[in-house]
Amino acid sequence: MTADPSQPPLRAIDAGLLPCRYCGTVWRQAQEGQACERCGTVLHARKPDSLNRTWALLIAAAVMYLPANLLPVMITRSLFGTQSDTILSGIIFFWVSGSYGIAAIIFVASFLVPLFKLAALFVLLVNAGRRSDWRQEERSKLYHVIEVIGRWSMLDVFVVALLSGLVRIQGFAEITAGLGIAAFASVVVLTMLASLSFDSKLTWDGRPSAKGKTNP
Ligand SMILES: [Zn+2]
Repeated sequence: MTADPSQPPLRAIDAGLLPCRYCGTVWRQAQEGQACERCGTVLHARKPDSLNRTWALLIAAAVMYLPANLLPVMITRSLFGTQSDTILSGIIFFWVSGSYGIAAIIFVASFLVPLFKLAALFVLLVNAGRRSDWRQEERSKLYHVIEVIGRWSMLDVFVVALLSGLVRIQGFAEITAGLGIAAFASVVVLTMLASLSFDSKLTWDGRPSAKGKTNP
């Protein structure tokens, strides 16, 4: 079969095909909500309630992003007193003390990446909700990027562990995790769940009125 570039690509949903999300079988002429004949999973063309679930998880993640950056992630008790560090003050500490590499890693992994994931999911959700035709290909790639980053999400937690380990080496100090760590971990988990619950096929749905009108 050759693709006609003037026509929008055929979607499985238009061809009457329904995939099973569990075992991967694709059923011809199956109905929405029917059970998969192989494994019994209920068949859906799109993840049920994907937009609402993803919005809820994304908003929760965005709310937790504030305490994750404002509350101390690390409390250091030493002979010189007690010091509370947030993620940003930790970054500044490493930068000022000349550890530019570590400062850069923490800045990217713990500050930029979560912010990027929140913003990217927001863009995907707003456009999927409007059934927008805007930059569908780029949005699809953007979702792929979020998925790839998702696999490295634990890097954030690793960085905080690294941070506390380094301070422990530098001096005789007692280090405890602050509340910020819990908020930070919840941001990581919530954004992962949000990207999992987002149905990337929604990106290709477009406006129903625009169907068949691409080549007037
Ligand atoms: Zn199945």
